[in-house]
Amino acid sequence: MTGGRKDNIADLPEPVCRYRYDLVGMAEHVGKVVAQLPERCRMFYAMKANSAPEVLGTLAPIVAGFEVASGGEITKARAAGADVPVVFGGPAKTPAEIAQALDAGVVRFHAESVLELHRISAVAVAAGRVADVLIRVNLAGPFPPATIAMAGGATQFGIDESRLGDAMHAAAELPGVRFAGFHLHSLSNNLSPSAHLEMLTLYRDKITGWERRFGVRCEVVNVGGGIGVNYLPPTGSASHGEVGPQFDWPSFTSELDRLVATFPPHWAEVDFECGRFLVAPFGTYEVEVLDVKRNHGTQYVVVRGGTHHFRLPASWQHSHPFRVRAVDDWPDALPRPAATGSAVTVVGELCTPKDVLARDVVVDHVRAGDVLEFVHAGAYGWEISHHDFLSHPHPEHVFR
Ligand SMILES: *Cc1c(COP(=O)(O)O)cnc(C)c1O
Repeated sequence: MTGGRKDNIADLPEPVCRYRYDLVGMAEHVGKVVAQLPERCRMFYAMKANSAPEVLGTLAPIVAGFEVASGGEITKARAAGADVPVVFGGPAKTPAEIAQALDAGVVRFHAESVLELHRISAVAVAAGRVADVLIRVNLAGPFPPATIAMAGGATQFGIDESRLGDAMHAAAELPGVRFAGFHLHSLSNNLSPSAHLEMLTLYRDKITGWERRFGVRCEVVNVGGGIGVNYLPPTGSASHGEVGPQFDWPSFTSELDRLVATFPPHWAEVDFECGRFLVAPFGTYEVEVLDVKRNHGTQYVVVRGGTHHFRLPASWQHSHPFRVRAVDDWPDALPRPAATGSAVTVVGELCTPKDVLARDVVVDHVRAGDVLEFVHAGAYGWEISHHDFLSHPHPEHVFR
């Protein structure tokens, strides 16, 4: 009897719940992004945005290398390619991770504090090596407006601009490190090319000032990532499935060409390390509607899936854009609730009211059994989510 029951369970349909990735589109987009960079500029991929082996394998031959921020990411980078250049940033590097990085042939460390410079030096000396470092500076600002300021206020990243003297002294004195330049990553999800250029102009002026003040010469300047993706509908549009204009990379790079021409000639390399902008558009999170119901005046659409797979909308407190794919199949014996032309709130399968993917967005028509396709889900989606909360099955991951 129990055997028969098991078979019955296995025969029941599993609702749609998957991430779908377009690797061909991703390769094409990143290829164009890289091709439009001016001379001296290089594009690293910040793999924390999405470190799936399929994504890393797609990008490894196109980008200048990978930016990693943990020992685990170093391992993933090496699995993607024995020779892919890797730069190692991020706060709180342990001695073991520093040793692993040296062993893995990491090109450069982005040093986040004076103590970290000492740690890198000590591990390098023990290994009979000298590590190239960029000093990561946390600027005082003011900055052009962007969604999240990563510096300029109090954040844990980098070295306070006002304490840079101590770090420069350590970098000059320590036997296991060699100063190669500065690292600045101050913005996240910036949609404005002109704001980004303004920020890079500020970086140029700051760095040339530090070169004079500390008597050093940069070989490499790393300007971080932070090029944004627009998740919001176009102004005036009622359709939640469309998004507004994206960061205009061609116009940005043509202006960048002019700006980089004003950088000192000895800055041999200007590195970008972008995550979101390279991969976000090429992931879609597809979930089946399990129920549609009205509770106390709110029309809820309940899906198989939720923020344990796709935490981005909860983390950013936004309604994530999605399309409704109509599915006509439906068992005759069951009622089929629907919402037509009304505002709906899309929630997942977790037993918490915070499991919300979109709130009060107007849809033409959605029924139980239809599939919602959340677009621009390729970066900071699966990667940042608490997968095992409530022990639901994980989504499928389909790469093509
Ligand atoms: C997260 C991060 C990036 C990538 O940021 P995006 O906004 O995804 O481009 C680059 N550099 C550092 C130091 C980061 O922490």
